[in-house]
Amino acid sequence: MSDPKFKDAGMIATDGGSKQAPKKESQQPIKIDGVKHIVAIASGKGGVGKSTVSANLAVALAMRGLKIGLLDADVYGPSQPRMLGVSGRPSSPDGTTILPLRNHGVTLMSLGLMMPEDEALIWRGPMLMGALQQMLSQVQWGQLDVLMVDLPPGTGDVQMTLSQKVSVTGSIIVSTPQDVALIDARKGIDMFKRMNVPRIGLIENMASFVCDGCQKTHHPFGHGGAKAEAEKQEIPFLGEIPLDLEIRIASDGGVPMVISKPSSPQAKAFLDIADILIASEVLK
Ligand code: ADP
Repeated sequence: MSDPKFKDAGMIATDGGSKQAPKKESQQPIKIDGVKHIVAIASGKGGVGKSTVSANLAVALAMRGLKIGLLDADVYGPSQPRMLGVSGRPSSPDGTTILPLRNHGVTLMSLGLMMPEDEALIWRGPMLMGALQQMLSQVQWGQLDVLMVDLPPGTGDVQMTLSQKVSVTGSIIVSTPQDVALIDARKGIDMFKRMNVPRIGLIENMASFVCDGCQKTHHPFGHGGAKAEAEKQEIPFLGEIPLDLEIRIASDGGVPMVISKPSSPQAKAFLDIADILIASEVLK
């Protein structure tokens, strides 16, 4: 049975959604009242840790006192509900607006909250773009300093729709240091340049690994590649995050490392990047 509350909102309902898909993409630009900045988090490849970095950075910025929202626009693999430990379905009391959920100081909206975790989303591009627009315009984001948008990997429809429909303050690219990831990250950097979206910088994830047996630091995906790429592209290098079992466990458990172990070196890596963002001109 579909949820009548979402009928007028045209939003995907409780039963997996493919029966009640959202309206198609509107041509109107979207203005989100109360939201100061929109920051897109992107990657060229999947699996480089973009969602993990988005979740930890969102919570880190909230811990620093900013009002933070996170829109999980990774429509084919929405993982933020799990990473932020959010479950339950956002309600729509008036059938038009949608009330987002909240945890760890972050306001969250995700397609993953609208459908069973193990169900595939079988929608064509225009449906997905409609859903993205609804999550931007019908969700009651409230007053936010930053709305972070966790994008799907690559340079496709979602990235283009976001860049064209709303005023994006800037983009952050996440990459591992290895060449195959960096080649695709470069394409993402180029796309934002061509879409006139300012590039806030590049983050290197899975940069190093400390062996708990020998305590030696290893670089399974190489080292320094993202920093060198940032220099080449003349964009800021924002920092590096280690490859670490606890980061993965914390994400899977719905309590990001910046909350579960705020004084750990891993959490510090995220908090340092949050501080760089706060100090940057972009978010003023
Ligand atoms: P993406 O959003 O780029 O597809 P995810 O954030 O979903 O990537 O991460 C892919 C997998 O790698 C997840 O299982 C996540 O927990 C794990 N992961 C990401 N970053 C790290 C890290 N720095 N250390 C350990 N595991 C990580």
